[in-house]
Order: sequence, then C-alpha cells, then structure tokens
Amino acid sequence: MYSKRKCGISVIGFTKVPNKLIFQNRYISYSYALVFLKEMRKKEIDTAPRIPAGAESMRIYAELGEAVNDIAHWLRERGVKCQSNHPMGGLAVFPALAGKAGLGGQGKMGLLITPEYCVRQRIAPIFIENKIFEYTDSLKHNWIENYCNSCGLCAKECPTEAILDKKKVNVDNVEGISQLKTSIDRLKCFKFFLLSNGCSVCIKVCPFSKEKKAYSKIISIYDQL
Ligand code: SF4
Ligand code: SF4
Repeated sequence: MYSKRKCGISVIGFTKVPNKLIFQNRYISYSYALVFLKEMRKKEIDTAPRIPAGAESMRIYAELGEAVNDIAHWLRERGVKCQSNHPMGGLAVFPALAGKAGLGGQGKMGLLITPEYCVRQRIAPIFIENKIFEYTDSLKHNWIENYCNSCGLCAKECPTEAILDKKKVNVDNVEGISQLKTSIDRLKCFKFFLLSNGCSVCIKVCPFSKEKKAYSKIISIYDQL
C-alpha cells in the first residue's frame, strides 16, 4: 500500500465529514475523509515539557503534513479529486473526526487515544469527493470517556490548569458522534504550548502512554469492572 511503503503510515480510517466538525469560517471542498495517524516516539515524549518532546511533536507534524500532501498527489494522479490538510492547520476538529472514523476515543485532554499508538500520534485527513472506500466508523472506543472520568491525571498535572474537570458539550447533534465535547481551555493550553515549544505533559502522564500495549491492558481491566 502506497501510504505505508512511501510514508510509513499504516493506521487509516475513512468516514463522512459532519459539517458540524468543520471550524467556523473554514471551507472543505469534499464530503468524505481519509484520516491518517502517525506515531510520535515515546522516548522523546517522556521528556515533556522539555525541548525534545516539543521537537518530536513538530517532527511528526512536519512528516505527516508532507505525507498527506504526497498521498493526495498520488490519488489525484489516479483521478481522485481530493484536498489534503496539514495536521497543524486543521480545517476540522481532527480528534473527533478520527474518533468518528473508528480510530480511537477522545481523552479528557482532548487528544485521540488509539490501540496502536495510545496518545502518541498526530492526525491529518485528506478530504475526498466520493465515497470510494467502506466507512470504518465505530463507537467501540467510547468507553474511554468513562475511564477518563475516573482518572483525571492530565487535569491534575497540566502546568496551566487548562484541562477542566468535566467535559462540556460544544456542539450538539453531530452526525455519527452525537455530541462534540471538550474539557480544554484552548487559549491557556495554546499559550503554554507555544512558550514550551510543544508542552506534551498531558501525553506523558496519561496512563495510556505508559507502555506500548497500554490500551489493551487498560481495556481488559476496564471490561472486568
Ligand atoms: S499540552 Fe500542556 S498545557 Fe496543553 S493541555 Fe496538555 S498539559 Fe496542559
Ligand atoms: S490522563 Fe487520564 S483523564 Fe487524562 S486523558 Fe489520560 S486517561 Fe483520560
């Protein structure tokens, strides 16, 4: 597969883009999305909030940005009308879009949590004109929201108290995911994210970041509760 061979990407979803996930005053040309994930290295993320963690974050933003441009070019050469979107300049709410595509669930800190990379990934879509693949939509990761309600570690450790105790509903009646919720004060987070060159403390402390198989370990315990 081209995305894996050329760009090292093997986790991909396909879904319809709900209009309500597109940011205000932004425009997406096409209705469907291939959603790609790229992993950040644990060793560097574990240094958060020091420079290596931020640098790793930026490295993946850059690599994934280049990858989706490359894959979109490859698709256009085969007659597929599409629009790539850099992971750092999102036109839509990427974690929610990836969640709708069945790739993972959204943690309290707002980031996607997946079986493959836990919290250590960046997300980027390619918007596509037609439904040329089967949807990968799934609600199987929704248990994460309940797990987060009993954890709260990221909120406790966030250097700027940017993570609220409870999620609030931002947008209602979102196609496929029902509600778009958030517990992040984006302004507080963003200021520190820039100051610290990428922060990533909430990724480092999350129990899902502890080891490579954390997702499967946590879900197996959670299932027994
Ligand atoms: S990136 Fe840093 S500042 Fe932003 S929510 Fe996570 S821990 Fe808090
Ligand atoms: S640290 Fe805990 S509350 Fe925060 S996202 Fe991870 S599991 Fe959820």
